[in-house]
Amino acid sequence: MRLTYKHENRGLVYSVKNILAMHDIDCHIKNDFGNTMGAEFGINNTLLELWVTDDADYNRAREIIEQKLEEPKDQKTWVCQNCGEENAGQFALCWSCQTAVEEK
Ligand SMILES: [Zn+2]
Repeated sequence: MRLTYKHENRGLVYSVKNILAMHDIDCHIKNDFGNTMGAEFGINNTLLELWVTDDADYNRAREIIEQKLEEPKDQKTWVCQNCGEENAGQFALCWSCQTAVEEK
């Protein structure tokens, strides 16, 4: 297990997890519970952490994350037509239900 990514935006962390899953990289999310409770123990506990299960996937995972997060296309958030969750603009799939963004 190796820490690969962390962010306070839960939707973003789940989107990254989904993207890595699409590349056959298995990962785990830590701190995905009561953010308000975590805050009592310091700011680091309020960030969601994404850990790759297999350390060997780490470099590939970082490359994918950097690529996806730096794509200069439409960065506006969008709302999933299936479940109504808000998604970051750089992701093509809903973090919650994996429905693809509708073509504009
Ligand atoms: Zn959805």
